[in-house]
Amino acid sequence: MNAQGEDVVAGVRTPLSISALQNEMPEIYDQLFQAAKQLEKRYKDMQDIEFTVERNKLYLLQTRNGKRNAQAALKIAVDLVKEGLLSKHEALQRIEVSHLDQLLHRGIDEKSVKDVLAKGLPASPGAAVGQIVFDPDTAAEWGREGKKVILARSETTPEDIHGVLVCEGILTSRGGMTSHAAVVARGMGKPCVCGCEELRILPEEKRMVAGSRTITEGDWLTLDGATGRVIVGAVPLQEAEMTEELVQMLQWADEVRTLKVRANGDTPHDARVARQLGAEGIGLCRTEHMFFAPNRLPVVQQMIVADNPEERKQALHKLLPMQQSDFEAIFTEMDGLPVTIRLLDPPLHEFLPNLQDLQQRLAALTYEQDGSEAEKEELRSLIGKVQMLHETNPMLGQRGCRLGIVYPEIYDMQIEAIFRAASACIDRGVAVIPEIMVPLVGHVNELKILRELIDFVADQVLGEKRRDCPYKVGTMIEVPRAALTAGQIAGYAEFFSFGTNDLTQMTFGYSRDDAEGKFLTHYIDKKLLAHNPFQVLDTEGVGQLIELAASAGRTVRPALKTGICGEHGGDKDSIFFCHRIGLDYVSCSPYRIPLARIAAAQAYIELGNSPVQEQAFARIG
Ligand code: PEP
Ligand code: MG
Repeated sequence: MNAQGEDVVAGVRTPLSISALQNEMPEIYDQLFQAAKQLEKRYKDMQDIEFTVERNKLYLLQTRNGKRNAQAALKIAVDLVKEGLLSKHEALQRIEVSHLDQLLHRGIDEKSVKDVLAKGLPASPGAAVGQIVFDPDTAAEWGREGKKVILARSETTPEDIHGVLVCEGILTSRGGMTSHAAVVARGMGKPCVCGCEELRILPEEKRMVAGSRTITEGDWLTLDGATGRVIVGAVPLQEAEMTEELVQMLQWADEVRTLKVRANGDTPHDARVARQLGAEGIGLCRTEHMFFAPNRLPVVQQMIVADNPEERKQALHKLLPMQQSDFEAIFTEMDGLPVTIRLLDPPLHEFLPNLQDLQQRLAALTYEQDGSEAEKEELRSLIGKVQMLHETNPMLGQRGCRLGIVYPEIYDMQIEAIFRAASACIDRGVAVIPEIMVPLVGHVNELKILRELIDFVADQVLGEKRRDCPYKVGTMIEVPRAALTAGQIAGYAEFFSFGTNDLTQMTFGYSRDDAEGKFLTHYIDKKLLAHNPFQVLDTEGVGQLIELAASAGRTVRPALKTGICGEHGGDKDSIFFCHRIGLDYVSCSPYRIPLARIAAAQAYIELGNSPVQEQAFARIG
């Protein structure tokens, strides 16, 4: 009262709540209320209104759509639908899907951010606070003691998994949006900042350096995975919540969208979370992640370093029940929904200990002369095998189906485990729909021989039960040659899942592990590329291959199912593209499912049915 806006801005007067006006000037309040209602109705949106009262007369000075955070945006949109001012479609279009990450992950209390140490790539959303450690063993130990830790590494490898599992968040100085740390963190819903090149991480010295500053093991740090900020100290966090309005909006999205949404998930826990968040199946179960558990890795290593198929089979025999129980648990969680299980994909040496570590161990044993000859010999033999498996370009090497063809007993074990698990589930009344996916196919003959193996094992294991197990066999399309010869490949595949991480890597010829830390960021800064193609699908190049392959595949097999399972499955623009070219589904990490459901609905509202869907409707009549 008796003040102007300027006084409030300058801080000389503290404003009262609007309800104060109701007590002091009830008539004016009613007029303002009516005007506000009218304006909201006129603009179909929440208004930010400036007004003044002079000599008992109300003046409106300005009105505009009010600013809002993600949670308010949802509430406003839902309220406007309930008041009949917006249609459900209009409300869905109002949602900025990238803001949903704010709602589904813990966030930072911005007021408390004081000391930003460095900025990296925003690799996995959410915020994390913890004491920094520089090796996975310490992370695991401190985690067991109940401490909250942030794991900082130059880059993570599968061997770090025990540390990754317990930490609150991950920080790396190298690697891009599809690096190991980023993919694993997104899958687990853990915050991650990666490729933070300003940092020099020195694990031996248990410290890291950023410019003139040093952060030492045990120091408190906050990571903001949504923006890539690394903040010194423990910043207070705000909890995520699945609000009533979000649930409502997702329900409306599901009524509209035609594109299905599946999850990338490797564990029963992932499957449960995915289902709760609305996944309509598992689109990618990376089976290698099941091999990294501390009690399994030694058996996997035994399998890899085996001198002959017999020895390898013995190790695989030990792995079989473990894989079977994994699949049984996932099938049970996904009862009645499809589960796409990808056979082993990464190069084998990823599972082996680091060569330098082994050499250092051998040197220590030799110089300190403690350690038996047998021990040293064992170490030498292991070093020899690791060296033998070493490849200059492992991402283009013996991985994916090439592994399965050279070592058929590995895939044989995995396929047997899948069907044994299916059989056990059927006995318990669980409806299983396995989809077995062969990775990295580039030539039709690769799929042909592996498909024969899959069908053969299915017959052997399922026998009569094959009727109750409507399994499918399909392939990832992630090598350009596979996309170009998709018509031939579709002869043996019931589904195509586009592995857009590798397909982007191989189409551009950019290493997915290194490009972002090197030239790619520069390219984006210089606007040579509009987006990072590992985040937003390059529709002109990679997308062309996808469209071509999907269409050639459907020509040969009209019922061919198509989807994408690379990181692009959780990106709005990429989801629009998938809808436009008539793919059946996108698959993304569980925590991105709500975002994908809303983006898929927006794609339908904006673009209508895809030409492929129109043709299908026309065929059905
Ligand atoms: C891909 O390449 O897109 C994919 C999903 O497989 P991965 O990331 O495991 O190589
Ligand atoms: Mg791949």
